[in-house]
Amino acid sequence: MPGFELFGDQERAQVQDVLDSGVLMRYGFDGMRNGHWKAEELEKALALRMESKHAQLVSSGTAALTVALASAGVGAGDEVIMPTFTFVASFESILALGAVPMLTDVDDTLTLAPEAVENAITPRTKAVMPVHMCGSMADLNALKSICDRHDLLLVEDACQAIGGTFEGKPLGSYGDLGCFSFDYVKTITCGEGGAVITDNDSYKSNADHYSDHGHDHVGMDRGAESHPFLGYNYRISELNAAVGLAQIARLDEFLAIQKKHYTVLREALEPFPEITFRRVPEGGEESYAFLNFFLPDADTAKKAHTALGDAGVDGCFYWFDNNWHYYRKWEHLVQRKSLGKWPQEVYDQMPDYSKSDFSKSDHWVGRNISCLIKLGWTEKEVRERADKMVGAIRGVLQ
Ligand SMILES: *Cc1c(COP(=O)(O)O)cnc(C)c1O
Repeated sequence: MPGFELFGDQERAQVQDVLDSGVLMRYGFDGMRNGHWKAEELEKALALRMESKHAQLVSSGTAALTVALASAGVGAGDEVIMPTFTFVASFESILALGAVPMLTDVDDTLTLAPEAVENAITPRTKAVMPVHMCGSMADLNALKSICDRHDLLLVEDACQAIGGTFEGKPLGSYGDLGCFSFDYVKTITCGEGGAVITDNDSYKSNADHYSDHGHDHVGMDRGAESHPFLGYNYRISELNAAVGLAQIARLDEFLAIQKKHYTVLREALEPFPEITFRRVPEGGEESYAFLNFFLPDADTAKKAHTALGDAGVDGCFYWFDNNWHYYRKWEHLVQRKSLGKWPQEVYDQMPDYSKSDFSKSDHWVGRNISCLIKLGWTEKEVRERADKMVGAIRGVLQ
């Protein structure tokens, strides 16, 4: 997945352009900037590649989620349905707005289970936020029909699956809003950065203003611009955007490499009758950022994960025990350990997750192993890796 593995001359040239003018800010300073508008260019390139009308760059993927929800009017006391298996950014972005994170089970797609979503809907539900974890997607068709029926927003977190598609559409472009992260370990990176994509003109305009202190960006004098509503600073810098501009031009090259490496590893594991692969919803194509597979039970998965590590196969994750990506270790959320007082709405409305039953999620996440697909491997390294994986897993299954 990490695009930083393949930094080269393109990234260097783009960053040099910015340094040559000295204008590191994406707005203003028109006279000094030698015509470089890296953030704007990257927004155009991203919108085009993601087949969306608009893109708004921001400072991180977490900011993208926050800005997406805020732009569509999510606020205090609104409930947002999110999966039990995701990065902590999901509930961070929801809580940042005073909205309420409603944890909901995942299924064998490792993403939101549509039946569980249906059951989690209340009169306060405002949005459903599927997270396309580890290179593959939620059943967007089923989720869209639920959202349409209940008049809910569909906000896609495609941070870990950029370049995947569903029904021929790029992930992120299917829902009302889609979010990407360009942090250092993502498929394409800006160092730090993120983006919101949407076809909706008012969400775009809201995102544009909200991510820059409410600036309406009308006219040529930043100080004279007006502020139609409150915002924050979630801006990206020109330096970061410059790196991203070089990287997005290479996205399809990166995806092809991921698919090639993924295929070698998958074909090596397919002969094991005990192994099944994560379900990709009909109509979907993965980004191949990870290879995800299930062992027959949690105990075997845990042993297989240890054996892979012992065999020197790095980058394989047993998410069930992970501190950041699975609800079991989110005690800071469950115990409400915030530095200051919570908004009353969140305090009153958020379920007591220490009493929740997420055994349906445990069933799948507990037997899953996810292996990161790297871009920098040589063909020989991928083959050797496949052999080591087969050896380690054979040892456990015997
Ligand atoms: C990386 C990531 C984010 C957050 O992105 P940052 O740029 O690190 O803030 C959000 N959701 C998922 C699924 C991610 O993997």
